[in-house]
Amino acid sequence: MTYLTRLGFTPLFLLLLSCGEKDHPKGAVPSIPTSPVPEKSVTEFSGDNALQHVVAINAFGPRPAESEGYQKSLGYLEKTLKELGWKTRRQTFPSSTPIGTVNFTNLLARHSPDSEPDWSVSPPYLLGGHLDTKRYPDIIFLGANDSGSSTGVMVEVVRVLSQHGDAANQVELVFFDGEEAMLRNIDPKRDGLYGSRYFAGHLKSRNNKPHAGIIIDLVGDEKVPLLIGLDSHQNLQSHARVAARSLGLEKSVINASGGIIDDHVPLINGANIPCLHLIGDFQKMPYWHTTDDTIDKLSPKALENCGQLVLKILHQLTAD
Ligand SMILES: [Zn+2]
Repeated sequence: MTYLTRLGFTPLFLLLLSCGEKDHPKGAVPSIPTSPVPEKSVTEFSGDNALQHVVAINAFGPRPAESEGYQKSLGYLEKTLKELGWKTRRQTFPSSTPIGTVNFTNLLARHSPDSEPDWSVSPPYLLGGHLDTKRYPDIIFLGANDSGSSTGVMVEVVRVLSQHGDAANQVELVFFDGEEAMLRNIDPKRDGLYGSRYFAGHLKSRNNKPHAGIIIDLVGDEKVPLLIGLDSHQNLQSHARVAARSLGLEKSVINASGGIIDDHVPLINGANIPCLHLIGDFQKMPYWHTTDDTIDKLSPKALENCGQLVLKILHQLTAD
């Protein structure tokens, strides 16, 4: 992740958001039956459950694109989500990178217990996070927080939503591959964000786009604040602040000092999807991108805070 300067990004960003909202008004997706995400879903989220998913994925070892750990993590997610009544689809594509061509695989998931979903129609909201870990030739990097934590939260959100019928149809989950750069830092056009760039480009083949996306990353450390990226859509930022306040999290969910490059950037710039970016303050994580990003850095409480915040925001958005 890299900070963007606020001045350099805002004008283009606002222009794109206004286009996105005009092109895709609420209620434009009649073919998927939905119901509001109920308020009570918020307290059904279990941080312990989310942590168990992180433990399971971490046991597969490092998971950079194409690795055995990544493949096993995909298999774990497919099996777990299937048991919860969700259908998954792999989105596999080659991409040239600074280290040569790499085959990436995003994993998409929809609630559709009885039939195959219509993948050409987007549900109203997208919840995304990356699954890959940063590629290191010499060290074993497990990425418990980066990116196990968001993955665990997303699976537990699925379990909660699955208990509420058509409310689960509000959301498509996307586990992005290749968020991490092959070289040191993400360059939004050349290195990193491979999965979200492909997903955003591929949305053209659908009949509609999601109204909004929520992207989460590095959400498992209770000791650092969860940041609201300021390149997030203004309305979604407001929803996040209202939700945080109502959950008593206003001290631990705070504004970033600007925008931070992550998987929401291609969704905004490439597909005009208004997004909310929630990310743990990695500048306060001395273990970030080191071998010390291990399961002991995570707490069920931090995962629970993030999961409840996401469900509360989804409740606010869908109950409006
Ligand atoms: Zn990372």
